[in-house]
Amino acid sequence: MDLPNIETYLQPNTIQDIPKWEKGWTWLSGGTWLFSEPQPDIKVVVDTQNLGWSEITIQENYLIIGATCPLIKILEYPWLPEWTAIAGLKAAVSSLTASLKIINIATVGGNICLALSVGTLAPVMVALDATYEIWDLTGKSYQIAAKDFQLGHKTTILKPGEILRKILIPLTNLQWKINYQRLSIAANDPALAIVVTAKNQENIRCVIAASVPAPRLLASEDLATENFINDSKASADYRRELTKILIKRSFANL
Ligand SMILES: Cc1cc2nc3c(=O)[nH]c(=O)nc-3n(C[C@H](O)[C@H](O)[C@H](O)COP(=O)(O)OP(=O)(O)OC[C@H]3O[C@@H](n4cnc5c(N)ncnc54)[C@H](O)[C@@H]3O)c2cc1C
Repeated sequence: MDLPNIETYLQPNTIQDIPKWEKGWTWLSGGTWLFSEPQPDIKVVVDTQNLGWSEITIQENYLIIGATCPLIKILEYPWLPEWTAIAGLKAAVSSLTASLKIINIATVGGNICLALSVGTLAPVMVALDATYEIWDLTGKSYQIAAKDFQLGHKTTILKPGEILRKILIPLTNLQWKINYQRLSIAANDPALAIVVTAKNQENIRCVIAASVPAPRLLASEDLATENFINDSKASADYRRELTKILIKRSFANL
């Protein structure tokens, strides 16, 4: 949809080209969400496409996925067969109820930073113990564990002007077994519950999402203290029971 209140469109080649950051400024990546609904508070969009951050590469002991990597690249990239955990990333992208057109344009960074409770990539990143690299406008950076990035539905730790630059996944974790489970009322509806389990010889990790406001890495199988969403789509009790079923299913499939 048109966003008639946008006054300025910037397309910087580097982050240092951005003169300042003020209220009403926002990053634009694929734009699939940004242009899907009215954005009355946004005055300036800063397009990330010219930053050249869509790489998939290996640096030291990490797989690096650039923030502007389109989702479709996750499905089409010639991954090494021994990287069994890539199946989790592919399942997350494939499970998107969005059309192929959206998957072609939407980005990994956009999906993670939009931080929907139903966000599909974030629980896989948490299960694989990924790290996010965040930049500020001067190009200074810091890293944060994926499990600590999203605070709630559409809420992250990002401060104004900060941007997700890339995702780092330890190469050893790419050899973990992984399983992605999702349930919704109808196949094309947003998920009511997502569960991702991952394991290697020593560790087993279980992440719940969509039934809670942000992905949660479980410390135990006890769900009593989890804050399940209670809304018009489903009660908290219903989401808890669905989550239990998906956890069982996911472990059985691992
Ligand atoms: C109707 C609808 C239903 C959807 N349902 C689901 C769903 O069920 N599950 C799901 O996972 N996704 C869902 N999505 C989201 C969609 O799949 C895309 O992943 C999403 O739109 C983000 O991709 P984008 O690159 O187009 O981001 P944009 O639309 O460009 O940006 C989204 C948000 O992220 C911010 N942002 C973008 N890139 C960065 C960055 N690098 N650093 C910091 N902030 C950044 C933007 O400022 C904006 O706030 C849905 C979208 C729509 C429109």
